[in-house]
Amino acid sequence: MIQTANLGFPRMGLDRELKKATERYWKGKISREDLLLQASELRSRHWQLQKEAGIDMIPSNDFSLYDHVLDTVAMVGAIPDRFHSLAEGDKLELYFAMARGSQKDGVDVVAMEMTKWFDTNYHYIVPEFKKTTAFSLSSLKVVEEFKEALSLGIKTRPVLLSPASFLMLGKAYDDHAPLDLLEKLLPIYKSVLDMLADAGAEWVQLDEPCLGLDLEPEEIDAITRAQQYLAAHSSIKIMLTSYFAPLKENLCQVFSLPVAGLHFDLIRGYEDWKSVIDTPFHGKVVSLGLIDGRNIWRADLEDVLSIVQQAVQKFGPEKVVVAPSCSMLHCPMDLDSEPELDHEIRSWLAFAKQKLAELSLVAAIANHGREQYAGALSEFARIGESRKSSTRIHDLKVKQRANAVQQLDYHRIPFRERVVLQEESLSLPLLPTTSIGSFPQTSSIRQMRARYKKGELSRERYEEFLAEETKQAIRWQESAGIDVLVHGEFERNDMVEYFGEQLNGFAFTKNGWVQSYGSRCVKPPIIYGDVSRPHSMTVRWSSYAQGLTVKPVKGMLTGPVTILQWSFVRNDQERKETCKQIALAIRDEVKDLENNHIQVIQIDEPAFREGLPLRKAEHKDYLDWASQCFRLSSSGVKSTTQIHTHMCYSEFNDIMDAIASLDADVISIETSRSAMELLDAFVSFQYPNQIGPGVYDIHSPRIPSQAEMTKLLSKALEYLDHRQVWVNPDCGLKTRNWDEVKAALTNMVSSARELRQAL
Ligand code: GLN
Ligand code: ZN
Repeated sequence: MIQTANLGFPRMGLDRELKKATERYWKGKISREDLLLQASELRSRHWQLQKEAGIDMIPSNDFSLYDHVLDTVAMVGAIPDRFHSLAEGDKLELYFAMARGSQKDGVDVVAMEMTKWFDTNYHYIVPEFKKTTAFSLSSLKVVEEFKEALSLGIKTRPVLLSPASFLMLGKAYDDHAPLDLLEKLLPIYKSVLDMLADAGAEWVQLDEPCLGLDLEPEEIDAITRAQQYLAAHSSIKIMLTSYFAPLKENLCQVFSLPVAGLHFDLIRGYEDWKSVIDTPFHGKVVSLGLIDGRNIWRADLEDVLSIVQQAVQKFGPEKVVVAPSCSMLHCPMDLDSEPELDHEIRSWLAFAKQKLAELSLVAAIANHGREQYAGALSEFARIGESRKSSTRIHDLKVKQRANAVQQLDYHRIPFRERVVLQEESLSLPLLPTTSIGSFPQTSSIRQMRARYKKGELSRERYEEFLAEETKQAIRWQESAGIDVLVHGEFERNDMVEYFGEQLNGFAFTKNGWVQSYGSRCVKPPIIYGDVSRPHSMTVRWSSYAQGLTVKPVKGMLTGPVTILQWSFVRNDQERKETCKQIALAIRDEVKDLENNHIQVIQIDEPAFREGLPLRKAEHKDYLDWASQCFRLSSSGVKSTTQIHTHMCYSEFNDIMDAIASLDADVISIETSRSAMELLDAFVSFQYPNQIGPGVYDIHSPRIPSQAEMTKLLSKALEYLDHRQVWVNPDCGLKTRNWDEVKAALTNMVSSARELRQAL
């Protein structure tokens, strides 16, 4: 009989119970016992739910109070030095201090760094290593959670991040490689595996996600050494899992590892399938990752069954497991809690709970034959067909327009010619000052929006309120002497949702939360169909603001790549095609703004770099289409219209060609925290267009002084031509309060004026 396995379940709970409990604990509103109790209730509920769904191998230790990489740090005792004064005290306090920093009882320590978990929107805590890092078994969470489930009658398959990937995901704070620590780390893993075996565990899921990356020989060697060591020193069966990308050239080594089972992501890594099926596995269990753990579409049952059948024929049913492609951490929990979602769209979707049912169904059909499941099979087939032909999805006009795009649509006249025309029409001073778009989303703004959405406030009253806020923001910016103003984005809840809500082809959930980091969750829109723009989206507020002042007000849009990247995307069409449709919608908006007297338009692309594929060989293709989509959205305007883009914090070094090919007239980036170091990439590239290197960090409530901003700007001016430089904060100001914003921007303007005089 083939079996079913799950690799990880969403942690937050249907009502985001975990988020609420941890945040209350941080505020001192509930006790640590309360928090731990609620966490354990959630785990128990989720195990039960997986059991009821008929899953044979249910994970444990996939749960975390903050992050599973931080859990691994705690397990192996890789506590960075600065937390040592906390290490003797409460373990939970130490754990959260590592995640969030701590400032109390005379202790003042900054949090560990956080970064993106591969190409997902989940962020993990980056382990910190140095040559002298010593490990010791310091947390038995994995063993305790196994026992906890066992006491509920569920024998789980505990999940651990493998030692090699754990080290590779960390950062060395001296000049040695983290992998040099492998030999010191392995005995800790051995002890943990022994304890799990003693507690009754038969299998453990060892996650080796780094297998999907371009690996150096010493890295693949480290992975091999680790598995050989664990196989030789432990009796527990290891299911080695990789996900998010095909294994390609790493496959051959993976096949030879001495593990009891191998899991393959056949959604992202389908290209590996031929090699997998052609390889003699000599008794290893093969886990087929066939249900997409990262997206929200109902499975194509026939496709899945055909792969399962091939596997059963080749390896025998006892050796085959069906599983999600990766942990379901990355998808929302339950479609049943979306009663308001359109019926037809709903029928195309599957969230975590529905995916468990799919896994069971697949195994049942494979084990017992198609006949008794004829009803389910025809239902899946019918829904699959409806998606292929639905007019909700397929809009011939949109497809025709995308096909008709010409080379010309991607280009403007050369920047050196545009810049002269823009100087004439905008007549800005040197070192022009501006901000990135949003002004404080005060509690009164959020309250008014909530009341408006609940129907307690009329649209008219709400818009009057927004108009007043916008007007005050414009008046204040004028009085502060800012050169290019913004309207403040008071009408927006979220920079993607605001646009998605107004575009065709997008659906929204009420409860489709996905963990982003710690207690933070996001609710990505679902792009289900061809995207088009029924009406203008931002003209109303931009032109209202422009009507209040003679200074230019920047139109403010979210770019196509960022909208794509922060949504659940179609799986029946290539990403680049969807992105192109969004780009055309934004292009129309840009044009509309221009027709309504907006001369400066910013198209934000903070997620541009984030879309970069895991493998270098695929970078060029992505960067080509992503920058083309940006240009498609921005190139329909007159030469005198100035296009800005904004990218937040990003590594630019290896993508400078693509950044330059965006051909934005002005790009603003986050540079203050790195003391302008991030500008180096632009300087050595001899980036020709204009740049606004952020002169102060908006994440901190600190008010930057005129002198410190002058110092940063002077540094930028040493390397860049002064005609290239803009003066702006690092990012939008929505999370700050008005006192902070006013003081900081006033100092910023003074600093720009001081330097202008010296030019
Ligand atoms: N224009 C947006 C703002 O100012 C940009 C946000 C972002 O960069 N993430 O809030
Ligand atoms: Zn930003």
